[in-house]
Amino acid sequence: MEFCPTCGTMLQYELPHVDHHARFACPSCPYICNMASKIKLKRKQPLGKKEIQPIFTQDSMFEGPQIEVV
Ligand SMILES: [Zn+2]
Repeated sequence: MEFCPTCGTMLQYELPHVDHHARFACPSCPYICNMASKIKLKRKQPLGKKEIQPIFTQDSMFEGPQIEVV
């Protein structure tokens, strides 16, 4: 969310049109912030899988409460 640097009103997103690209425009003053047509990612960060912690281990499974089935 961005705000107008001149009046502080929240900027509104305007869809790309024939005469202009997508842009943020202030509804209360003539401020317009043009957006670049393409967004470049500066670096790609590899996403690693998080190690899953078991809720209970195979050994602790037998330490829990025991019930008898009659
Ligand atoms: Zn403004």
